[in-house]
Amino acid sequence: MSKQALVPKVEDKVHLDEFDPDYTGNYADEDEAKRDRDKDLEKLRDLQEVFYAEQKHSLLVVFQAMDTAGKDGVIEHVFLGLNPQGVHVASFKKPTEEELGHDFLWRIHPHTPRKGMISVFNRSHYEDVLVVRVHDLVPKKVWKKRYDHINAFEELLHDNGTTILKFFLHISKDEQKKRLESRRDTPRKQWKFMLGDLEERKLWDSYMEAYEDVLSKTNTDYAPWHIVPANNKWYRDYIVTKTILDAMEEMKCEYPKPAENIAGIVIPD
Ligand code: ATP
Ligand code: MG
Repeated sequence: MSKQALVPKVEDKVHLDEFDPDYTGNYADEDEAKRDRDKDLEKLRDLQEVFYAEQKHSLLVVFQAMDTAGKDGVIEHVFLGLNPQGVHVASFKKPTEEELGHDFLWRIHPHTPRKGMISVFNRSHYEDVLVVRVHDLVPKKVWKKRYDHINAFEELLHDNGTTILKFFLHISKDEQKKRLESRRDTPRKQWKFMLGDLEERKLWDSYMEAYEDVLSKTNTDYAPWHIVPANNKWYRDYIVTKTILDAMEEMKCEYPKPAENIAGIVIPD
């Protein structure tokens, strides 16, 4: 586990065993990372206000992960303080018959963000080269063309002014076991315990292989993947917050100028 970079190079073939899910950067303890995360969240809130007002850029944040890696948790922690009118969260579950009757991007496109908006994908079009591949839901000759379809789709969004950030929350198989045991044993978590998750866990290696292909074939300059060490929830939240903040700072958003000179306008009684 030598590699600590969180963003694989675009030309690299990703080997997930080179990315340490326990990695916590320069942080030895949780408190310091949480303090920094909270500072970043404050800044993010201020930036979102300008971003929302300006209506020039849009942001798409994609979360993919194995069960229990914390998609729900990270979404809650990072987006909780933002203006909810500017955030749309879309969760992609098993496709309906109507959705299956169309191409795999049909159900995704309407959830992409308009200008001024942030869309957050809890699972995404990547399921169509992950669960679909692992369970043989369509023939290989169908899913293997989808990496190109996805890259073209994301390029289209990028060309239309959308910044795309894709996060793979990387937990270890041992950590998943602990979290499933905790779901089984903690009353307030039991509603999340699904027997089906145990079946998926048996396919861990096939999923890792499918993820490695995703992280290698769809890691582009315009829509990079971030491999987030996620065994420690506090580091996971810190990294995701910081990455989104950096991307929003880069947009250099500004409040729009008023339509006309409003300085002297008298407000009627
Ligand atoms: P949680 O982590 O809270 O359990 P979840 O995202 O796992 O949330 P579930 O309702 O448990 O939500 O699972 C959704 C299921 O839908 C997942 O097993 C996922 O693989 C599956 N799914 C999503 N997209 C597709 C797709 N395109 N084809 C087939 N299955 C899909
Ligand atoms: Mg689930």
